[in-house]
Parts: sequence; C-alpha cells; structure tokens
Amino acid sequence: MLEPRKFRVTENRKIAEGVFGLKLVPADGEPLFVYQAGQFIMLHLQNPDGTIWAKAAYSIAGAPSESRDSIDLAIRLRGDFTHRAEQLKVGDTVLVQGPYGRFTLNESAERHVMLAAGIGITPIYSMLREKLMTHPDSDLILLYSNRDVSSFSFLVELKALADEHPNFSCITTLTGETEEPWQGERGRIDEAVLRKHVPEPATAEYYLCGPTDFVTGLTEILEKCGVNVKIQAHKEIF
Ligand SMILES: Cc1cc2nc3c(=O)[nH]c(=O)nc-3n(C[C@H](O)[C@H](O)[C@H](O)COP(=O)(O)OP(=O)(O)OC[C@H]3O[C@@H](n4cnc5c(N)ncnc54)[C@H](O)[C@@H]3O)c2cc1C
Repeated sequence: MLEPRKFRVTENRKIAEGVFGLKLVPADGEPLFVYQAGQFIMLHLQNPDGTIWAKAAYSIAGAPSESRDSIDLAIRLRGDFTHRAEQLKVGDTVLVQGPYGRFTLNESAERHVMLAAGIGITPIYSMLREKLMTHPDSDLILLYSNRDVSSFSFLVELKALADEHPNFSCITTLTGETEEPWQGERGRIDEAVLRKHVPEPATAEYYLCGPTDFVTGLTEILEKCGVNVKIQAHKEIF
C-alpha cells in the first residue's frame, strides 16, 4: 500500500461557483510521485494533534507533463469534508496518498471524446491538457455539461485550448435556465447532440465522468450509436 505523504498547500483559490482549487507540493522537498493524467489521490485531513480526521478521493486536475513538482485539485463544496478542506490556508499541511486509478488515456486510440458533467471535468481536464501538450494535433472532442453558467470550471482555459488547437472542439451544454446570453448547447446531452458533434461516433474512444445518472444515461446513448462500450468507454463516477 502507498504510504500517505505530507504535502504543503501553496494555493487555495476559487475556480467556479462552489468549486475551489488547491495546489499542493511535497513538504519534504523530495520529487513528486509519477502519475498519469486522469488518476486520483486520497487527501487526508488531520486533527490538530496530527491524527487523521478524514480522507476522500480527488482527481489530479493538472497535466503530468506540465506540473512536475505540484498537484492541482479542483473540489466541489458538498458536506463536512469539503467545507473543512476549503478552510486550508497557504502553508498548511495535509497528507496525500497515491496516485491511484485506471481512468487514463488509451494512447493507441486515434479519436478521443470526453463527456463530463459538473466537477467530473477534473480528470478529463487533466487528460485533455496532457494530450494537447504531448500531441498538439490530437483529434479531441469535449462535451461538458453543467446546470448553471457559473458552475463551469476551467471554461476560460478550455476555450483558449480550443482556439489554439484546431482539432480540439469544446462544446458546453447548460441544463438549467439562464437570463445571461449563452452560446453553447442547452439541455442534457442526448443522442441528437452527441451525433451532431461527434462524426462517426462508433469509431471513437470515450471517457465519461460525472454523477451516476449522467454516466449511465450516456453509456446507453453510446450503445445506441454503435459504440462497443465495454472496450471503447472508460468511466469514473463521482
Ligand atoms: C475516484 C474519485 C475521484 C474524485 N474526484 C473528485 C474531484 O476531483 N473533485 C471533487 O469535488 N470530488 C471528487 N470526488 C468525490 C470526493 O471523493 C468526495 O466524495 C466528495 O468531495 C465528498 O465531499 P463531502 O464534503 O460531502 O464529504 P463528506 O461526506 O462530508 O466526507 C467525506 C469523508 O469524510 C468523513 N467525514 C465527514 N465528516 C466527518 C466528521 N465530522 N468526522 C469524521 N469523519 C468525517 C466521511 O466519513 C467520509 O469518509 C471523487 C471521488 C472519487 C471516487
């Protein structure tokens, strides 16, 4: 089993409405562990006496080729754990265990389609950035859904990546109502929206991350589109 390691908080910032980002570096100054885009760590919060208070899993949002000495997390505020994590200050220490997980890129696939809902963008953002840093001409499509405009994490960064990389399309869809002007899609990602943005859907590799109903619903839609989901669809639920 991987031993928990002490990390220091070097940044705590707001990323979107109800989402904050932590940057963590190894407190001992030793090199960071080697990880793959899409993997997660266990974040342990401690009591003042150093005993473990609680732990939870968080995907690494940064790209391994980019951040070799720190990890970035994007955390949606929910219950006690996340509200306590949000209180972390620069200089505080936490314990980090990992990396874990097999929700990673299939490097042999030629076309990658990422389907993310809410904070499910986190491992997908890592995979997208890694792929575009190492293979800038990669054929990539992101369909990213949120209820509110203010809930989209990394929207500015994703749009900038799409501007820089002609083979990367970033399609956002809003499931709630808004008074603000909105140029993306509206409503849930259904078969029509998928087919509109993903030419020849049966030939792509898929990465799905979000709540259970999102991942289950989209898996059914992929099957209807002729995708062999057992082989071509990679899933993470949270
Ligand atoms: C693979 C994976 C990756 C994930 N990646 C992300 C991500 O990138 N971003 C994200 O936002 N979420 C992610 N999640 C979800 C995340 O792990 C948590 O489920 C979520 O943040 C829970 O938040 P919470 O505040 O409701 O936690 P809580 O339900 O409050 O607590 C989580 C843990 O702390 C314990 N705990 C809570 N309160 C107390 C207390 N008072 N005393 C003692 N123990 C307590 C609970 O028993 C539980 O073990 C991921 C989940 C998985 C499985």
